[in-house]
Amino acid sequence: MPSGSTGGPFLAVERLAKTFRLRRMLFGGGQTEVHAVRDVSFALEPGASIGIVGESGSGKTTIARMLVGLEAPTGGKIVLEGEELRPRPTRAERLRRSRVVQIVFQDPYTSLDPRQSVRRALEEIQRVHFDGRAKAERDARTGELLDAVGLGEKEARALPRELSGGQRQRAAIARALSAEPRILVLDEAVSALDVSIQAQILNLLADLRHELGLAYVLISHDLAVVRQVADEVLVMYRGRAVETGPVETILHSPRHPYTQKLLESVPRPGMRLAREPASLAADEEGCLFRNRCPYAFERCLEEPELLELDAAHAARCWLVSNGKERSANGR
Ligand code: SF4
Repeated sequence: MPSGSTGGPFLAVERLAKTFRLRRMLFGGGQTEVHAVRDVSFALEPGASIGIVGESGSGKTTIARMLVGLEAPTGGKIVLEGEELRPRPTRAERLRRSRVVQIVFQDPYTSLDPRQSVRRALEEIQRVHFDGRAKAERDARTGELLDAVGLGEKEARALPRELSGGQRQRAAIARALSAEPRILVLDEAVSALDVSIQAQILNLLADLRHELGLAYVLISHDLAVVRQVADEVLVMYRGRAVETGPVETILHSPRHPYTQKLLESVPRPGMRLAREPASLAADEEGCLFRNRCPYAFERCLEEPELLELDAAHAARCWLVSNGKERSANGR
């Protein structure tokens, strides 16, 4: 657990950025920069839940990977319980972080060893994090974890491939909980499941949050999923946060043209976002949504900051500055 708390938010993400340098295959070779995440900030208190939504290429999964140390930020910082996390943690620091923050992936095989029974997977994590725990105590804890995620003895003895998709995701959640974290990063954790199983896992996550006081960072392209689990939402477009606020406010009164487009174009009740490939070219200026925005005007050649609509709601659009509305004629 990080030490040296300064009394700030439980988790603070401040101006986080990630730039990938890629080899250019055309135009004479060399390197090109891709800004996957640009200047993203948010905070999370114990037991709170934030949803990060956006289409493919918006940078939301890169944020998830930076939170758990799988990617090193190239800018900004992550502060956990008052301690700034180093971009390239040592093994000991990574282990300490994983006691506080765990991740559940879309594909449970990413975290479950296909040759290991569910019971063994849960025991292994306990051995890593709670070395001094007696076997009887570990067994009791394994039983509690299985109960908590709704798996029985039969599933505990099974290999991942012998489980259904929903059971496998329950096992992956139990494995993450074995470290007794305080934050779960859920990276499209229900996207691969059919709708009825998805609903069961979302109910399970809601119950676990309530019972264990867990905080969630929920990464999803599905606004319906975000609505069920998150209190706050951060809408991402091409690496930037373009709108943030309480989930019901964003769903009912979206103010950024991109958020409005998402909500207008998606069929309810699923409310899935379009999977448009996002261009990540680094050398553009102005508002990144300019070429798709029906309201673009001259000022949009400058990039707007996130502009506050009220204490909890902000949008990165010049139309919301100085009380202007999207319907204003004076743009
Ligand atoms: Fe559209 Fe301009 Fe607002 Fe960008 S800043 S979303 S281009 S109106």
